[in-house]
Amino acid sequence: MEYTLKLTPEQAYNEQSIRRYLQEEKGVRCTSVWVRRRSIDARQRQVWINLTVETDPDESVFRVEDFREKDVSGEKTVVIVGAGPAGLFAALRLIERGIRPVVVERGKDVHERKKDIARIRPEQRVDPESNYSFGEGGAGAYSDGKLYTRSKKPAILSDAHPHIGTDRLPRVIENIRERIRRCGGEVHFQTKAERLIIRDNLVEGIVAGGCEYKAEAVILATGHSARDVYRYLHESGIEIEAKGLAVGVRLEHPASLIDSIMYHSREGRGRWLPAAEYAMVDQVDGRGVYSFCMCPGGFVVPAATGPEQIVVNGMSPSGRNGRWSNSGMVVEVTPTADDPLCMMRYQEELERLCWLQGNQKQTAPAQRMADFVNGRLSADLNESSYAPGLVASPLYFWMPKEISERLREAFRLWGRRYRGFLTNEATVIGVETRTSAPVRILRDRETLQHVRLAGLYPAGEGAGYAGGIVSAAVDGQRCADAAAEYLNNER
Ligand SMILES: Cc1cc2nc3c(=O)[nH]c(=O)nc-3n(C[C@H](O)[C@H](O)[C@H](O)COP(=O)(O)OP(=O)(O)OC[C@H]3O[C@@H](n4cnc5c(N)ncnc54)[C@H](O)[C@@H]3O)c2cc1C
Repeated sequence: MEYTLKLTPEQAYNEQSIRRYLQEEKGVRCTSVWVRRRSIDARQRQVWINLTVETDPDESVFRVEDFREKDVSGEKTVVIVGAGPAGLFAALRLIERGIRPVVVERGKDVHERKKDIARIRPEQRVDPESNYSFGEGGAGAYSDGKLYTRSKKPAILSDAHPHIGTDRLPRVIENIRERIRRCGGEVHFQTKAERLIIRDNLVEGIVAGGCEYKAEAVILATGHSARDVYRYLHESGIEIEAKGLAVGVRLEHPASLIDSIMYHSREGRGRWLPAAEYAMVDQVDGRGVYSFCMCPGGFVVPAATGPEQIVVNGMSPSGRNGRWSNSGMVVEVTPTADDPLCMMRYQEELERLCWLQGNQKQTAPAQRMADFVNGRLSADLNESSYAPGLVASPLYFWMPKEISERLREAFRLWGRRYRGFLTNEATVIGVETRTSAPVRILRDRETLQHVRLAGLYPAGEGAGYAGGIVSAAVDGQRCADAAAEYLNNER
């Protein structure tokens, strides 16, 4: 039986408390409860949890898409460049379709990669091949693991805002890699794709790490930070175009402050509620300004992928129990030049400027929030979760005016809407530039192949067709299905 319930946070806390509620208030006895949907309604002083639950569900409903392991060694080969969500889910789908995936990844496996990430703070530099974006699992591996999507496919089963947590993701990724290998596929680390092998507008493989990898088709899933890939495509005359994105800063508040604002309570979230989330969006002077990738109880991380850059992003562990809550605060930017790489160059300039302001290390330039809005220097800074450290800097002054002026206006607006939000207890940290790809690799809507090169499937976020873990994984699967059709019908 299915029930729609409106419960207090304590009643909705876990399966046991929901079962108790059903028995005591509705006279329903059951041995298990499946939460199909959960959302928090914090619009009023009393916070409610809206649930759709099913009692004693038929277990077969959990088998949404059983993965059928099969041996694909000796079958036709598709090379996948990039082991992010798009590449890994493409590989799994190819196996289901009886095709052998060969994955090449420039970075290291998820455990080795973790050591390089840990070195950013003491060494104050980023390894250009092993960092928050490059390596097994892609940018998703050390992310927040929020699994939201605007995709219409029913990829998410219960929570309206599900979240895995950065501490649990590496295990999931490792299991996927082992499954690919067990089925006869290959996964190669520290193997950077350098170029495509093309004959008469037909892609026949890649050159990576100095070796040729011949294949019937290539899925290019290199993410939004592989700038050398964009440069190679442009220089080789392979059709791409500039794409709009959003840039700005990370804003970090004490988590307890966000909890008390969003839950309308001086006591904060109390025992039964998770760290509070928010989502802001407004138009300021003709452009969208919005919060991006909010991380309740999380931390701000150094997400640069090369020298002379500072880029910040955010993530949180599964418990979301950190002292701070942060979010990207970004302004839409659209291409104004003909150059397909103009938005990438815009990102590069801003990241370099930020590095110069950050003392040419990974220490990030930062300012107290109210000081940023009022155009005042911050004499000192708040404590922060950003491990490499912060440097006081007038971001309102050196950031492009089209960004900083709109952010200041939006912060004023949100400060009026949510009392306590605009405060010097919060810190503005520069700069958030990798919200999506600065380039789109042009592909056919139906076949998903590149518009000119047969056998090339640009996939995921880097190709400009996804934003976030789930939509990148779904796009990877779609490209794998399209490649399978192509191999069956045309080759
Ligand atoms: C810190 C952080 C937090 C995030 N939090 C979330 C979140 O909570 N929820 C969410 O949905 N999204 C989040 N994201 C975004 C999400 O991670 C990306 O949208 C997603 O990973 C994109 O998947 P992808 O497979 O298209 O590309 P990527 O994950 O970027 O993977 C591309 C892969 O290709 C490899 N590669 C690049 N060039 C080459 C080459 N020449 N040869 C071989 N390999 C190459 C890279 O090393 C990388 O592993 C976060 C991102 C970051 C950085």
